[in-house]
Amino acid sequence: MSKKILILPGDGIGPEIVAEAVNVINTLREEHGLDVELDEALVGGAAYDAAGHPLPGATLELAREADAILLGAVGGTKWESLDIAVRPEKGLLGLRSALNLFANLRPAILYPQLADASSLKPEIVSGLNLMIVRELTGGIYFGQPRGVRKLESGEKEGYNTLIYKESEVDRIVRVAFDIAQKRDGRVCSVDKANVLECTELWREVAIRASKDYPDIELSHMYVDNAAMQLVKAPKQFDVMVTTNMFGDILSDCAAMLTGSIGMLPSASLDENGKGMYEPIHGSAPDIAGQGVANPLATILSVAMMLRYSLNESAMADRIEKAVEQVLDQGLRTSDIMSDGMQQVGTEEMGSAVIAAMKD
Ligand code: NAD
Repeated sequence: MSKKILILPGDGIGPEIVAEAVNVINTLREEHGLDVELDEALVGGAAYDAAGHPLPGATLELAREADAILLGAVGGTKWESLDIAVRPEKGLLGLRSALNLFANLRPAILYPQLADASSLKPEIVSGLNLMIVRELTGGIYFGQPRGVRKLESGEKEGYNTLIYKESEVDRIVRVAFDIAQKRDGRVCSVDKANVLECTELWREVAIRASKDYPDIELSHMYVDNAAMQLVKAPKQFDVMVTTNMFGDILSDCAAMLTGSIGMLPSASLDENGKGMYEPIHGSAPDIAGQGVANPLATILSVAMMLRYSLNESAMADRIEKAVEQVLDQGLRTSDIMSDGMQQVGTEEMGSAVIAAMKD
């Protein structure tokens, strides 16, 4: 039976970059036998404008039925003054929690062709290929109790709760181990076990789960050291797995090491491998509608979808090789442009990837 992919273009540059990714999917359907059906729906500001809510019921229903979801980006200045409950970002958060997408996969890859884009020295960062696995639906961002209360003295006090069940840790570290088995076989679990009991338990559960993965080399690192090591010697890591908040911070740091957010895809998976795939960047309202946005992060999100939800690794490889090939050809969108390269727009970049996929 055909697998179902739901396409959610979203706002800003979303529709432009998603159109190029859909062309890639259609090429795989027409020329390589990919058996998928595509549906499309509204999310974010576009959904609010059309239906009064950033995640309309019809969109959520299609998302539940889909095997995988491809999302562009949501948000923009137009919707910033709306009540927080109906802001575009609520569409994204609503999808993540309704579909229980607990595992966030954020690769940080720096293609050697783009080594100059990083603020680090090329020899430190060129060829970086790191995967950060972040727990996405638990931890301090969701823990209860939380709030701001007034003390007897009249002073206010804010509080949040860092909380993880063993089962929540177990399932996320196993995602990291499974991914590492398809890579270099090394997982670094990041915690603060010297200070936080909750992450002492995290470490204990990671060690216990690792017994089922004798082929994986598990190491542990405190989060403060992990932040330093990411900047000092990022190529030492293969897969990192960590809590929601630590992962939020470390994955943005790792993304910035590459210097090109227009190149980085991401995935958020549920327990059965269903996933939502999206570029890590936002809706870039400053360049929306100009045809200059870099579509490669969204195209690479399709490759992740093929690998993690559709079990089509060879097709994923084909896309990733095609992207490398267009970089080798010297084609660059404005965000990754450098001297001597040929500047192209969104459509031209998308077409070049499709041409390279045929080789
Ligand atoms: P942004 O990622 O949209 O843009 C940051 C900068 O990077 C901008 O200068 C932009 O032009 C550039 N940029 C981003 N993607 C690019 C691409 N593919 N090609 C070329 N240049 C690109 O972040 P921001 O400006 O902080 O946020 C803009 C809007 O996006 C806000 O409404 C924010 O809430 C939203 N946002 C959405 C998501 C998401 O949907 N997942 C993530 C982050 C931000």
